Order: sequence, then structure tokens, then C-alpha cells
Amino acid sequence: MDPRQPPRVLVVEDEPAQREVLRYNLEAEGFDVLLAGGGDEALLLLREETPDLVVLDWMLPEVSGIEICRRIKADPGTRAIPVVMLSARGDEADRVRGLETGADDYVVKPYSVIELIARLRNQLRRTRPSAMGERLVHEDIVLDTAEHRVFRGGQPLHLGPTEFRLLATLMEKPGRVWTREQLLDRVWGRDIYVDMRTIDVHVGRLRKALMAQGGSNPVRTVRGTGYALG
Ligand code: CA
Repeated sequence: MDPRQPPRVLVVEDEPAQREVLRYNLEAEGFDVLLAGGGDEALLLLREETPDLVVLDWMLPEVSGIEICRRIKADPGTRAIPVVMLSARGDEADRVRGLETGADDYVVKPYSVIELIARLRNQLRRTRPSAMGERLVHEDIVLDTAEHRVFRGGQPLHLGPTEFRLLATLMEKPGRVWTREQLLDRVWGRDIYVDMRTIDVHVGRLRKALMAQGGSNPVRTVRGTGYALG
């Protein structure tokens, strides 16, 4: 299994043919793709599946794309998820550009898939660096996601694949408190049953590996909640 959990993208598009083109191309690029044909479905998936990114068509039959975007950005639980809007007309693009929607970026139809994917990667480089093959640094710990290597104080460390994913997740947002459920979803994937205590076991192994050559324990236990780095 790839130690990097693939970025999960929610595509909201009512045209089946366009939805299929997006699904095909995004999956070919290694994304985990969720599809919604309309606003209600999109809002449900947003709550239940916590995507890393939303590709949102402006023109939707029931709830408009602009309204969905407004709701994503008004909810503290989903606000940080980047939204890339697809707009059909120049005047729509003008309004997206004016940031009236809170969208993070936009692409005007007809768009090139290559350009769209470049823009999605751009957003994810900011919010999911470990999934984008970046080098993550926290104090004296360096994690190279492309090479799958971890160093502390310049010394290479030996981590199992699960500990690697766990550390990559924690290093994406130092200081953020992750619940066991969130770690389970990100590190093990949503389709696997894992006992919550298994997470504690792997955190224990990660700490041991990180402290193998000295240094303090960088993984903090947040009582009753989960774990945080630093
Ligand atoms: Ca549409």
C-alpha cells in the first residue's frame, strides 16, 4: 500500500458525461474521487466523507454551486476545504474572481483537464502537502514523502508504513489535535475496520522510533481526544 493516503476529491457536477470525464481523469492522476450530481448529495458527502478538495460546478439544478460554496465556507467544519469552481460563462468567472463566493480558485468551461488538475494540485500543495510528494519539516524531524524517508537531527529513522503515514499526517498540521477517528480515516482509510486501541499501539511505536537516537517525545497525547505533534 502507498504510504500516502491519496487526496480525496469531491466532484459536484450534474451532467453525467462531464462527471464521468472528471472521474476518469482524476482517478488516473491518483485521486480518490467522490461524485455528487447535485447540491443535497454534495452537502451530505461533505459531512460524511471529509474530502480534501471540492470541484464544484456553478450551474446545478437545485441548489446552485455558488450557494453550496457559500455553505462550505460558512461552516467551521468544512471552511478549510479548498473549493475550485467550474463556471460556464465569463460573467460567472468575474464573480468568482471577485471572491463573492469564497471559492479558492475557478476554471472557465470549456477547460483543459491538465489545467484543472494543475490548479487542484496547487490547492492541495497548501492543504495536503504529504499527499503531494513534498518534504515536511517539524523542528529536527524531516519527512520526505517522495522518497519515503524520515530523519531526526539528520539521522535516518526506520519507520513501518503505518508509522510513516501517521507521522506524515501529524506533520501536515503541527499543533492540530487529531481525534482517533480522524487518524483512523486518514491513516488506515475509511473502508477498514481498526480497533481504536490499534492507533495507540502505532503511536507508541512511532514515538519509540522517533526517540531511538535521543531527543524528546514530539507526539503529545491529548487526554480524551487523541494526538498532536508538538
Ligand atoms: Ca452543470
